Amino acid sequence: MTGLPRPAVRVPFHDLRDVHAATGVESEIGGALLRVAARGRYLLGAELAAFEERFAEYCGNAHCVAVGSGLDDARLALWALGVGEGDEVIVPSHTFIASWLAVSATGATPVPVEPGDPGEPGPGAFLLDPDRLEAALTPRTRAVMPVHLYGHPVDLDPVGAFAEPHGLAVVEDAAQATARYRGRRIGSGHRTAFSFYPGKNLGALGDGGAVVTSDPELADRLRLLRNYGAREKYRHEERGTNSRLDELQAAVLSVKLPYLDAWNTRRREIAARYGEALAGLPGVTVPEGRVAEPVWHQYVLRSPYRDRLRRRLAEAGVETLVHYPVAVHASGAYAGAGPCPAGGLPRAERLAGEVLSLPIGPHLPDEAVEVVIAAVQSAALDSWEEGP
Ligand SMILES: *Cc1c(COP(=O)(O)O)cnc(C)c1O
Repeated sequence: MTGLPRPAVRVPFHDLRDVHAATGVESEIGGALLRVAARGRYLLGAELAAFEERFAEYCGNAHCVAVGSGLDDARLALWALGVGEGDEVIVPSHTFIASWLAVSATGATPVPVEPGDPGEPGPGAFLLDPDRLEAALTPRTRAVMPVHLYGHPVDLDPVGAFAEPHGLAVVEDAAQATARYRGRRIGSGHRTAFSFYPGKNLGALGDGGAVVTSDPELADRLRLLRNYGAREKYRHEERGTNSRLDELQAAVLSVKLPYLDAWNTRRREIAARYGEALAGLPGVTVPEGRVAEPVWHQYVLRSPYRDRLRRRLAEAGVETLVHYPVAVHASGAYAGAGPCPAGGLPRAERLAGEVLSLPIGPHLPDEAVEVVIAAVQSAALDSWEEGP
């Protein structure tokens, strides 16, 4: 124990139990779990089919194929499209490593593209920059993977306008974004990969993911690949894999899906309050929405004093996280061997040093939001006065 006084209020970063308790969904989840246990069918049953139908409808699309994780859905979508050894897929330099790993797992090479200008107030400063796609194109390029990071949709129209004439597939990584772009739901496009990792806006009680697509052939191929390459038991048409969203998770997700829009609305309220209270603080850049309706999976500040801010906030009882502290190309997984252009990826590296995620979520009461705001205001002023 240190001699420091303990802060009066603690704001944890996120706890799914709080979300469930605050919204009364807990008992419904319990009921769903018991129902599945009693029914005795745990894989590829009625719960999976029902959730797939509901989630496709939510996205405004024809097909949903749910699999074992968000990494797997992007991997399987690329695999089903025939992407493999010798191919290249354009990915953002600033993302969670899973976006790159999905490409690498097919044998293809992820080709990173930097985000937009760090001075840009909108989310372009941390999202894939469509203006940089052309420079990343080679004869081996097969697909582009825009990642709707932190719940902010990438500017998709210019991405599509680039991809189409070059015959490239667009595979959206929407693990963090059940959002809208120019009035359209993310997931209403050709092929979008979602994650139901517990901490995502729609989280299971374990791993899960889904591809939502307008393409019946892709959906059919994904159903084959996720189940050992078999449509019928022991009739293996090709070398597939095992990646299935189980009945328990499907039932839990069906219970939670009707709450998702209200939860995202609450995230937006909190983001708006953070934005109005924190804009203009010295040494801090607050995120803004732009052409899109973000769902604020994370609320991410940028500051050259990130580590100092984070320490001060911890002392004030406010837990923060960093998404992500090491740029993917600089991580042990890709360093040295990775597809990093000459001159490196300075924007991704800078973001890794500056980003700071504040607590946000449907469970967070107004009082907690105000505690976070007061703590950030005071930490920012202190950090600024300390100088570089
Ligand atoms: C969470 C996440 C994934 C992977 O999802 P899992 O379900 O954890 O495998 C992929 N991409 C991004 C951007 C993510 O945030």
